[in-house]
Parts: sequence; structure tokens; C-alpha cells
Amino acid sequence: MLINKMRVTFESRSGNESLARMVASAFLVQADPTLDELDDIKTAISEAVTNSIIHGYREGSGDILMELALFDDCLEIRVADEGCGISDVPKAMEPFYSGDPSGERSGMGFTLMQAFMSEIRVASAPDEGTSVWMKKNFSGR
Ligand code: ATP
Ligand code: MG
Repeated sequence: MLINKMRVTFESRSGNESLARMVASAFLVQADPTLDELDDIKTAISEAVTNSIIHGYREGSGDILMELALFDDCLEIRVADEGCGISDVPKAMEPFYSGDPSGERSGMGFTLMQAFMSEIRVASAPDEGTSVWMKKNFSGR
């Protein structure tokens, strides 16, 4: 059963990664999650938003949409950009794969999102953007 939902759009600036985490934390107070659940969700959001900022909009800037839907037993999150997109999503989601040419990234973002969330689905197309949908089941509900 849907309890509450929200959507927010922000600029692809690095400081807005912490903004996204804080907004999600504030929204989640009503759900009374465990500290572990809250940490998992914040980590997953950080990874998705960081990817939109540094990969999606690597050649400029743009809007990032974050949608949160709170149900009685789970939280659904969507982070979407209209950036460069991903040509091979399964490959991008492999552990240690990074398309970043600098060699400074570990390629573990999607792996962390998969580990910390109950479900993740990525939809992306080159030059159209990327949408990451994730679900976190709350324990004991
Ligand atoms: P890390 O997250 O460990 O710093 P990373 O960002 O390279 O490294 P992932 O988060 O797993 O690793 O992402 C894998 C690759 O998928 C990225 O290197 C990038 O090529 C591509 N990618 C991920 N998200 C997006 C996005 N929103 N837009 C375009 N490309 C993306
Ligand atoms: Mg990443």
C-alpha cells in the first residue's frame, strides 16, 4: 500500500549528492527504518546520483530527477538523468567495470547498489539518458 511519495529535481553539481541523501533521509523519517536500512538506501542513492553527475553529464550539466515512493513494506527510488546514456547496460553493471577513461574509478557503483538494495533495474539509451529504479524491502514488515 502506498503511504507517501515525492519527487525532486536538482542540478548535476557534486554538492547535490549530499542534498539527495539528506532529502531521502528526511522523507524516510516517517518510515522509521533501521539504521542499517537507512545507510543502505543513502549509499545506493549516492552511487546513482554520482553516476548521473560524473558519467551522465560528463560533458556539461543537466537535471537529475529523484523520485521516492514509500509503501508500508518497502521504498522505491528512481534516479534519472537525460545525459549521455549507457550503450551496454549489463556490461556497465559488472563488478569492477568502469567506462571512465581516467582509471580513477573502481567500477563498483552498480555492484554496491545491487548489494544494498533488494532489487535494481536500469534503463538507458545512448544520448537519451539513464534511469535507475531500486527497491528496498523493510525487514520484519
Ligand atoms: P565507482 O562507482 O566505483 O566510482 P564507476 O562509476 O565507473 O565507478 P559504476 O557506478 O558501477 O562504476 O558504473 C559503471 C559504468 O557505467 C560507469 O563507469 C559509466 O561508464 C556507466 N554509467 C553508470 N551510470 C551512468 C549514467 N547515469 N550515465 C552514463 N553512464 C553511466
Ligand atoms: Mg559509479
